[in-house]
Amino acid sequence: MSEVAGFFCQKQNCAASCCGAFDGVSDRIVPVGGRKFKEIVLTSSDLERIRGSRYEDFIYIAEDGLGRVKTADDGVCLAYESGQCLINEMKPTICQCFPLYLDVFIGLCAIKDCSSVTDGLTIKSYANEIEHFLEMCEFWISHYRQELDKLRDEGGAK
Ligand code: SF4
Ligand code: SF4
Repeated sequence: MSEVAGFFCQKQNCAASCCGAFDGVSDRIVPVGGRKFKEIVLTSSDLERIRGSRYEDFIYIAEDGLGRVKTADDGVCLAYESGQCLINEMKPTICQCFPLYLDVFIGLCAIKDCSSVTDGLTIKSYANEIEHFLEMCEFWISHYRQELDKLRDEGGAK
């Protein structure tokens, strides 16, 4: 039986690095809640790890209470230098699950902007990225549960 190829990030050799300005996957979707695709949102665990570390200056807490990695005005990550991630040892979860994307209609997808995405890759190919991807999903689920609970408490949910 032939081995299934694993997903392989080209890192500093990548011509289309995902650390530049990310502009979403399609101009046919809009964010609900005002965040922009170029923002690099941190999970609570990312925040815990990076706060107090030597990488703390790369992050901040935004108005919505969620952490972010700082980006330049054009959306390029400030921790990106000469093709390398300066906070690689504490790389945020969202960066570790790229190029995966969840479509609620058909499930797991991969973003074709990534130089290493090909049609033949499978769940097994993305096993490492899926672990981080699930963490990111759990973070968002918990975030939206809290938002809904807040709305209910305020009497604003349907
Ligand atoms: S934190 Fe690192 S991996 Fe994530 S976008 Fe910035 S440079 Fe890239
Ligand atoms: S676009 Fe894909 S191959 Fe390139 S750095 Fe990002 S994850 Fe790696």
